Amino acid sequence: MTIAQQMPKADSHLPDIEATARGLYIDGNWRQSKSGRKIGVTDPSTGALLAAVADATVEDAQASIEAASRAAPGWRSTPPRKRSEILRRCFELMIERSEMLATLISLENGKALRDARGEVAYAAEFFRWNAEEAVRITGEFGIAPSGGNRIIVDYQPIGICLLITPWNFPAAMATRKIAPALAAGCTVILKPASETPLTAYALASIYEEAGVPPGVVNVLTTSEPAQLSAAILTDPRVRKLSFTGSTGVGRLLLTEAAKQIVSCSMELGGNAPFIVFDDADLDAALDGAMVAKMRNAGEACTAANRLYVQSGIYAAFAEGLAKRMAALTVGSGVDALTECGPMITPKAVEKIDRLVADAKAKGARVMCGGEASAGPGYFYPPTVLVDMPEGVEMAHEEIFGPVAPIYRFETEDEVVARANDTEYGLAAYVFTRDAARGLRVSSALEAGMIALNRGLVSDPAAPFGGVKQSGLGREGGQHHGIAEFMEAKYIATSF
Ligand code: NAD
Repeated sequence: MTIAQQMPKADSHLPDIEATARGLYIDGNWRQSKSGRKIGVTDPSTGALLAAVADATVEDAQASIEAASRAAPGWRSTPPRKRSEILRRCFELMIERSEMLATLISLENGKALRDARGEVAYAAEFFRWNAEEAVRITGEFGIAPSGGNRIIVDYQPIGICLLITPWNFPAAMATRKIAPALAAGCTVILKPASETPLTAYALASIYEEAGVPPGVVNVLTTSEPAQLSAAILTDPRVRKLSFTGSTGVGRLLLTEAAKQIVSCSMELGGNAPFIVFDDADLDAALDGAMVAKMRNAGEACTAANRLYVQSGIYAAFAEGLAKRMAALTVGSGVDALTECGPMITPKAVEKIDRLVADAKAKGARVMCGGEASAGPGYFYPPTVLVDMPEGVEMAHEEIFGPVAPIYRFETEDEVVARANDTEYGLAAYVFTRDAARGLRVSSALEAGMIALNRGLVSDPAAPFGGVKQSGLGREGGQHHGIAEFMEAKYIATSF
């Protein structure tokens, strides 16, 4: 018996997992996959089977392209005010059901309920923000330099979009794409991660109830993402790929998208430096480190992956951080007291263990944690490593777990060079009381987003995205997010 079958159905705060897993969502209908196969969804805090969802085939993917294609003319010609009202309703329904959604996220992803509640609020905000933006999409009008004619630029929906999302923020990574795509007038096919499909399906029910017409949003889960995405991207009707996930998979998808010259937005991996200068406010830096490292138990692309602390404040910072990390309550995400939930899979725990073992072997000292916990569940304890040597693997790889390695530095130039010594460039954090230095270092860091004296960088109102191998394009922000789903059309007049 799965956990879904054991869950009480009466409490509206609890998700009805069986109903949520009722099928693929294609053309406004819930249907089983053509193969009849299922994918198991596991509770990472126990390893127990939570539910099973439909496993889509290429044939199902083709049905979703048909549906998105049929719905496209109606949706792009729906008045922006009407589109805006539907998006607003999605926001309202998400807020009304936030406790249910947070519990569902926590069950399938493992994150602590407080993190899951934060994610639902963040995810819903993309609908409110884009409801407001949907009615403000404008074009451009100008006089050609010759003076002989006018130039009109019209922004039009780019077309059918394939959206692929990861497991670490199952609600927010989906709404950060769906809301602007719908605001722009596009129809979409969402392929969520197979570790966390339930949230995507629960949200699909909300879109349906909010009045999103059939075929405008289609949701498919599959155990064969490469085959399905290849089939979708070779259909000439599909004009956009928006992907959030690892840099390795992003690179593969860029190659697939190249075949039909499909427009790509890529939100990829990170290796964020977290820099604390001697003159920083120690408590603010520690508060910031706890958020930047421990939001989502470290399973975030923006997570502080390398903490660089200047010599004068190094000992106090390390001691303060170890005290806070060691005091965290580790447990099942749905337990109200939990502050750090399990990792997503046993493989994720193995990777963290390997990176920590490498650092220890090269001379790092463990202040707390440092070894994977015994099962059941996929737990790794909050860990602080000090005296970090050069040449460790975790300086170049995403740890994606609750491990804070603290490196010592002496000068500003040195730390900027070390922070930039990575192929990634997503987020970076800087703590200093010197405003001029804060701005100078922010400007020198090769990252798409800088948090200055704070531990949280994500905001639906700001453009989210990376440079170097952390990605292409931006999500959120006033015009950035919607612009990714629009094409400029220039009309030259004769007058
Ligand atoms: P992943 O790349 O393994 O998977 C992401 C998505 O791609 C999933 O839906 C997966 O099923 C699908 N996928 C996997 N292989 C595929 C293939 N060959 N073809 C097509 N689709 C495929 O990443 P993940 O483990 O789910 O997520 C963690 C990664 O995502 C980390 O690297 C993290 O930094 C990154 N991430 C980035 C952002 C950002 O905004 N930049 C946000 C969240 C996560």
